[in-house]
Amino acid sequence: MKNTPQRRDLRFAIIGAGMAGILAAIKLRESGHQQVTIYEKADRIGGTWRENTYPGLNCDVPAHAYTYSFAPNPNWSHYLAPGPEIQAYFEGVVRDYEIEPLIRFRQEITRCAFENGAWRLSTADGLADTADVVIAATGVLHHPSLPDIPGLDRFAGAAFHSARWDHGVPLDGRRVGVVGNGSTGVQIISALAGRAGKLLHFQRSPQWIMPVDNYAYSEAQIAAFRQDPALVDKERYNEAYLTNVRNFTDAIIDADSPQIAAIEEVVKTNLEQSVQDPVLREKLRPTYRAACKRLIFSPDYYQAIQHPDSQLVVEGIAGVEPEGVRTKDGVLHPLDVLVLATGFKADRFVRPMTVLGRGGADLDRVWAARPTAYLAISIPEFPNFFLLNGPTGPVGNFSLIDIAERQWNYIAQLLDQIESGHCREISVTAAAMEDYEQRRIAAAKKTIFASGCTSWYLDAEGVPASWPWSYNNFAEAMTRPNLEAFDRIGRT
Ligand code: NAP
Repeated sequence: MKNTPQRRDLRFAIIGAGMAGILAAIKLRESGHQQVTIYEKADRIGGTWRENTYPGLNCDVPAHAYTYSFAPNPNWSHYLAPGPEIQAYFEGVVRDYEIEPLIRFRQEITRCAFENGAWRLSTADGLADTADVVIAATGVLHHPSLPDIPGLDRFAGAAFHSARWDHGVPLDGRRVGVVGNGSTGVQIISALAGRAGKLLHFQRSPQWIMPVDNYAYSEAQIAAFRQDPALVDKERYNEAYLTNVRNFTDAIIDADSPQIAAIEEVVKTNLEQSVQDPVLREKLRPTYRAACKRLIFSPDYYQAIQHPDSQLVVEGIAGVEPEGVRTKDGVLHPLDVLVLATGFKADRFVRPMTVLGRGGADLDRVWAARPTAYLAISIPEFPNFFLLNGPTGPVGNFSLIDIAERQWNYIAQLLDQIESGHCREISVTAAAMEDYEQRRIAAAKKTIFASGCTSWYLDAEGVPASWPWSYNNFAEAMTRPNLEAFDRIGRT
């Protein structure tokens, strides 16, 4: 006679108290799990919203869509929420769901090894713990990428990365240089134009800019949202936004699509209509296709760069000197402050943590060619180890919260296999992983990201590391795991 499987009381370690780690903790508690610990290396929650505090920071996903589905927020001030409001929102959720007691702050997990059927974790401080399941919620764009510019360390003024903003440094009326024009650099320029005495934007490659109306919600609208949750839902599941973002995803996954041609028209028109000076306009015109680099949504960058105190510098940086930045044409641009909006090491994910799977399989080696995970969630030979917003995870410009919630729905069903005693260890099979990778890479090469530019989406071999199929395809994939794709050890 077959034994009835025993329900197991699992111990969980969540790594990271950002958006995804908080989500995992709330969901685990909701489903009755008591043994949940979140390890957080900093002294506050918030992940990217804790780390990024630069002037002008906001989220280019509409605020009501960048919100947990179970914790709507009637109070968002703008269509696109400012960073500090988002940080406050997560802090409020942590309070409301009483997550804080689960968090061990200032504890950086440095090693995580699967030994004798459990994960042994150790922290930089020498703390040790054991968990049945690890949820890696360590974020995507987390490790600042510092440019290799000669002389950077000799600069006499203040220099810092955009994710390490030094708020003690005055900006008003001063000479500020910003290197980099990704979403971050563009937002900083928009915020500092007219504040800095002289604002220099060092551009290595131009960017296409999608216009967006970042309107404020009126007091009356916010009051109505507070009174009627259905109105908040209406805003969140706004058909126009959902159609737009679905179209956008369809566009970027097919470089030959009519949708991408339509986007190209909009950004070209934006450039033509917004920039008066033909010389400046040509400096700002990219030679690659729209959305090849992550498309930038900005209501005001073109106005900011045309401010009388702003200057676009395209000559290329030769080096940094104590007085400022010297460009390749020999000109020295004197500066008081130098901001490095130079992006992140997007291939790091959980690293530099050492992660050792079954039989000592070293994640660093497994990811030597490129970081990847089956459906962005599971890795062969790393049982009971699940990633939220893991490699190949971003889906178009969709809200990473929506993506993480759907990934959680999938992970929860894998957890159920362990918890219900149907197996003790679960991880994707090598064959399913290989099949996923082949299909993913073939599809990724057809996306707009692979159409001839550099960006953080591209891995070391130039293959875009994002979800290369439609949003509907992603939503469908996350509804139910195909258990045949998983090694289930200890099955009853
Ligand atoms: P990024 O998109 O990777 O941009 C980095 C910028 O730095 C690029 O303009 C790059 O130029 C430049 N750069 C790098 N090294 C350089 C060097 N040595 N000399 C000169 N220029 C150099 O980084 P990011 O702007 O921080 O944005 C990263 C991602 O964060 C975004 O794509 C987005 O996903 C997310 N983000 C989102 C929001 C939001 O509103 N949701 C806001 C900020 C960031 P090249 O283009 O020539 O390489």
